[in-house]
Amino acid sequence: MTISNICACGSNLSFAACCQPILDNHQSAETAEALMRSRYTAFVRKHEQHILASWHPRTRPPALNFDDNPVVWLELLIHESIEGGKNDSAGTVEFTSSYLENGQLCRLREKSQFLKEDGRWFYLRGECSVKREKIERNLPCPCGSGRKFKKCCLSG
Ligand SMILES: [Zn+2]
Ligand SMILES: [Zn+2]
Repeated sequence: MTISNICACGSNLSFAACCQPILDNHQSAETAEALMRSRYTAFVRKHEQHILASWHPRTRPPALNFDDNPVVWLELLIHESIEGGKNDSAGTVEFTSSYLENGQLCRLREKSQFLKEDGRWFYLRGECSVKREKIERNLPCPCGSGRKFKKCCLSG
C-alpha cells in the first residue's frame, strides 16, 4: 500500500476500507469517532457534501468555502472518545488536527459533540483552541515532501 492510499484520518487503513464508504454515503458512521474521522478526511479532500450532511441541522452553516481559506492538512490525532458508541445517542471526541495556513503551523485542539438521531451520527458543535507557530522558510516543509518550506507549502 502506498502512502497516498492510506486514509487521511490516520487510521493506517486504506481510504477505501476506512472513510471512503462514509464519504460516499454507502454506509453511515457507526460511532461518533468514525464520523469525526470521516469529517476530517472530508476536509482534506474538500468533500463539502459530506461535511454539511454530517453537520447537525441546528448548527449547520449554509455552505463552506474552501478557497477563502487554503490550508494544507497534516494530521489528525484523536486524544479521547467519551461515549459515542454503537449504543449511545451522544458522544464527545477530543482531537488535535494539524495544518499549515499562512506560513504557520497550526494545531487545533477541539472537543466536539456528536448526537445520534434516527440512527445517524451528526456533529453538533465544538470548543477549540488553536496554537500557531511560525515556520522558518528554509526548514524542511512539515508536509513531509522533503523540500524547503519556502519552495513547498509556503508558496501554495
Ligand atoms: Zn479514515
Ligand atoms: Zn509542503
